[in-house]
Amino acid sequence: ATPTALMVGTGRGAQLGILIKGPEVLESTRRVDTVVLDKTGTVTTGRMELHDVVAAEGVTEDELLRLAGALEDASEHPIARAIARGARERLGADAPPLPTPEGFVNLAGLGVRGRVEGRAVEVGRTPSGGLPADLAEATAAAEAAGRTAVTVSWDASVRGVLTVADTVKETSAQAVRELRALGLGPVLLTGDNRTVAEAVARDVGILDAGTASEGTVIAGVLPEDKAGEVRRLQAEGRTVAMVGDGINDAAALASADLGLAMGTGTDAAIEAGDLTLVRGDLRVAADAIRLSRRTLGTIK
Ligand code: ADP
Ligand code: MG
Repeated sequence: ATPTALMVGTGRGAQLGILIKGPEVLESTRRVDTVVLDKTGTVTTGRMELHDVVAAEGVTEDELLRLAGALEDASEHPIARAIARGARERLGADAPPLPTPEGFVNLAGLGVRGRVEGRAVEVGRTPSGGLPADLAEATAAAEAAGRTAVTVSWDASVRGVLTVADTVKETSAQAVRELRALGLGPVLLTGDNRTVAEAVARDVGILDAGTASEGTVIAGVLPEDKAGEVRRLQAEGRTVAMVGDGINDAAALASADLGLAMGTGTDAAIEAGDLTLVRGDLRVAADAIRLSRRTLGTIK
């Protein structure tokens, strides 16, 4: 490998909005055949908005918003930000301020828990089964549309469902087409549930509408298990590029043969990646692979 060609590749990368940790990084892209894409913040904008507020019988919407909003106000998770902001908006400027929870606990990849106004409140992943029919219906409808639903409980009973809407980035479908054209098999990896993940995967062409091809959507993965999923694909003989933005993605980015971090994401992801896509545009992942192949082509 001539250092000059690699340096030229690195310089060209900077022009495309790709920061490369070191010229040797380009070498790892040669055999990449699989690209694992984190969902939230990578394929989607990650800017979530509160969408549905569905209270269980005997619970008012305001009560639901107040208790869930207060608890989520203590969390930095994008779902939590959307719920706290949405609760304030919908409760209105005249409502009393959201109380500060006591004994707040964040359960990574699961949800949050704490005491609000004397009640033991939980907001998080919907348990499979056991929801009252109206809440189960609202959850299913939201998930089929690609929205994430969370369950609000207090004092050990389910009190309602809140859903948040994220938006697929305008460039994601084009990026998936370009990655496929380069011979890479796309895989969606997320902590979110399967129904939501498949709706997003269909939207951007990771799944063909109608078919549910095995293995291209890996859903319901806990943050600490994302790297294990990358290693599992590697154990199957695949050479894996991973694109991610979150703290949750850092270990997976480091485990991948090539880690691409969204420049719009967290510092932890950027530090763990081999490349940074400065503008957070997924199409640039395809540019990066094209560039390195071309650069290596001139070297060989
Ligand atoms: P992703 O992989 O999409 O970034 P996470 O691993 O952070 O998602 O979260 C996975 C799931 O855990 C979410 O879809 C949600 O159901 C639940 N969850 C995590 N944090 C929270 C929270 N603060 N409030 C409600 N639900 C949460
Ligand atoms: Mg993410």
